[in-house]
Amino acid sequence: MPHNPIPLFIPTFRVNETLTAIRECLEVGWTGMGFKTLGFEKMWKTYSDFPNALFLNSATAGLHLAVAQLKQSYGWSDGDEIITTPITFVSTNHAILYEKLTPVFADVDKYMCLDPQSVEDRITPRTRAVMFVGLGGNTGQFMEIWHLCQDRGLKLILDAAHMAGTRWSPNGPHAGLGADVAAFSFQAVKNLPTADSGVICWQDPVMDAMSRKLSWLGIDKDTYARTTGTDYSWEYHVDDLGWKYNGNSIMASMGMVALKYLEIDNVVRRSIADVYDSLLPEECQRVPMSPDCIPSRHLYQVLVENRDSVVDQLKEVGIGTGVHYIDNTQYPMYRLCKGSGFCPKAAWASQRLLSLPMHLRMIPSDVKRVATELKKAIEKVKT
Ligand SMILES: *Cc1c(COP(=O)(O)O)cnc(C)c1O
Repeated sequence: MPHNPIPLFIPTFRVNETLTAIRECLEVGWTGMGFKTLGFEKMWKTYSDFPNALFLNSATAGLHLAVAQLKQSYGWSDGDEIITTPITFVSTNHAILYEKLTPVFADVDKYMCLDPQSVEDRITPRTRAVMFVGLGGNTGQFMEIWHLCQDRGLKLILDAAHMAGTRWSPNGPHAGLGADVAAFSFQAVKNLPTADSGVICWQDPVMDAMSRKLSWLGIDKDTYARTTGTDYSWEYHVDDLGWKYNGNSIMASMGMVALKYLEIDNVVRRSIADVYDSLLPEECQRVPMSPDCIPSRHLYQVLVENRDSVVDQLKEVGIGTGVHYIDNTQYPMYRLCKGSGFCPKAAWASQRLLSLPMHLRMIPSDVKRVATELKKAIEKVKT
């Protein structure tokens, strides 16, 4: 009997509620920056306790702003180094290259997050910052890295693309609050889905103000304030060469509705992960979550031999999988980054990492089917 396909990811939108929120923008006649973007920022700060939040068109934009502003504000030079992970989406490391800084790759730990010892080994007089990625919503050894950055006077940038809703304990503080800056993604398949958007959260309100300007081409006053404020003025100053990175009210409408459901959606994700944990065969190695956190569970990852053949087998029975991620040092543009040492664990994992379907439309029988088919596929490719 043929089964319904089970995709790796598929977003769940609360369609009517989202359309009502978008309709409001259309009726008011304000779809751009301001209005709902400010509403989202307020809601996100209340939800996460981050002291500042700026809604953007993507997390990639946020990561770039983070690196660019730190470089500018602290007088870093071209070629200064940021220690980063090879197991990530390329946005993380592109952000470093955009600013002519050097990504120095450190190895990962069992959580597939940066290993503090490897980071420490790669600190040089030119190291300025560490870029930490909470892979799959994991905190890994974030606090160890945080302490290391404090001790060594390094900035800590957090790629929190997978971390919306990761907490230190049930109802406890949101993870990542100690980073100098964190960027979350609200791209369509992340835990808080819009179509494309993100948020940048700075510790320092001065940096937040700078992001507001630089994400709007360097203009010092936003259009919404100019057209709705009592001090309407056609006049504005352009102090810096900024970018067009601002978010808009349509995306923010989607985000405000999605944020209402983030906590309960993450509970469902964790329960799917629990079912996987109980059903997968012993010999199937899981990427563990740090016991210190209640993870968002953006991903459920295992490590398997003959990964690519397993992927093909699962595809044949209608099960979508993914690889998060290929070791970035294998990409030509990163292979020759100065100071990059060999990262043996990342290289090993890169050939074995496999992400199993993880989304809110899965019912327990789907999880069971994935577990059964994975077991069969592993057996089959052995022979
Ligand atoms: C999705 C993702 C990004 C980029 O997010 P966008 O909002 O699509 O720009 C960055 N880093 C990681 C780890 C991601 O998964």
